[in-house]
Amino acid sequence: MRKFYIKTFGCRLNQYQSEKIREHLSACNLLSVSSPDEADLIIVNGCVVTHRGERDTRKYIQKYSRQGKQVIATGCYTNLPYVSPPPNTSFFTVEEIKKNFSLVSEPKSLQSRHRILIGIQEGCNFRCTYCIVPFVRGRARDRKKEEIFTEIETYVAKGAKEIVITGTEIGGYGKKSNSNLASLIRDLKKKFPELKIRLSSILPLYVTDDIILLFEDNIVLPHVHLPLQSGSQKVLKEMKRPYKLERFLWAFEKLYEAHPHMAIGTDIIVGYPTETDEDFEMTYELIKKLPFAYVHVFLYSRRPFTEAFTIKELPYEVIKKREQRLLELVKYKKKAFIEKFIDRTLLAMVEKIQGDMASGTTENYIKFVAKSTNKVHAGSYVKIRVLYSENYRAVSEILKLL
Ligand code: SF4
Repeated sequence: MRKFYIKTFGCRLNQYQSEKIREHLSACNLLSVSSPDEADLIIVNGCVVTHRGERDTRKYIQKYSRQGKQVIATGCYTNLPYVSPPPNTSFFTVEEIKKNFSLVSEPKSLQSRHRILIGIQEGCNFRCTYCIVPFVRGRARDRKKEEIFTEIETYVAKGAKEIVITGTEIGGYGKKSNSNLASLIRDLKKKFPELKIRLSSILPLYVTDDIILLFEDNIVLPHVHLPLQSGSQKVLKEMKRPYKLERFLWAFEKLYEAHPHMAIGTDIIVGYPTETDEDFEMTYELIKKLPFAYVHVFLYSRRPFTEAFTIKELPYEVIKKREQRLLELVKYKKKAFIEKFIDRTLLAMVEKIQGDMASGTTENYIKFVAKSTNKVHAGSYVKIRVLYSENYRAVSEILKLL
């Protein structure tokens, strides 16, 4: 039996697509293995959002092609016009991979039975000046609602408890079909009332009253990623982000008020070429002020084809210094968010049992650990009480098995 290994770089959409490939190849009688050394076929789902992502993808492909293994590269990396496959390597889209391997049985869900990523669209119609994604993923394309429902149905039948709605620009879902993300989610909840639904990342301009109501009405779990990128309106404008700072602040406030356990995460790009010390201070102060659950900090990465490519970069030491300051603050914010829930009760999903300890993720995306009981197993929903925070996890007690 042929053995394959999938290496995924980058975002949740890539993770979702890798799982689809894994399901397909497994249904073609290939065996998924957990180490590239055991495999004779290596699938590399690459990422080019940052310079480092592109370099790591290239190195990984080269390493295994040099070893003489069959390598299939897919994803954003293969859409760069200046890269070509090294020996033993093919560049395929996900659809081409599927066509090249014939099914011997129906593809089955292999994702962790309990939390499943669901891609509802791909591509982006915006043109942020630093972003290569629209060039490698193309314009926004929605999946058909019926197709999404059928996919979820198969996962639910196999015991999925929670889905994470994923895509490049999920907030724009339904524009062409006179629908929208909020109504898709409401319809999903109607059809699968027991299923927990989590949104991934949504642009502030798509946070409408209908989206806010999804949180107020407990249709979705109280957690969302709201990308900011900069706390300076001037930089947001220079980045051509499709919202103003004002809109971000409005969305943050409304979402935060929509649920008492609300967790809002964000992304920040440090060192955009036009970012001055004052601009950075604005970002720093804003992060300090708002009760973020977590903040992902990215160093600006100059990407080909983007509008910002031609702008002179800031000195590396300046960018690094800003990053260090922000990272310190971000650690503190994450801890403070967990501590806010000490002595409070949260809904949580157990994902792992090790000895007599259970661990998993709460409704508002905090990692927790707690002493388990023999009735609790991976996939159980429980009510926990947070006791204290340790290593960015909530040490808790399980109050009730749901
Ligand atoms: S919204 Fe901007 S940053 Fe996000 S994928 Fe589209 S172009 Fe890139």
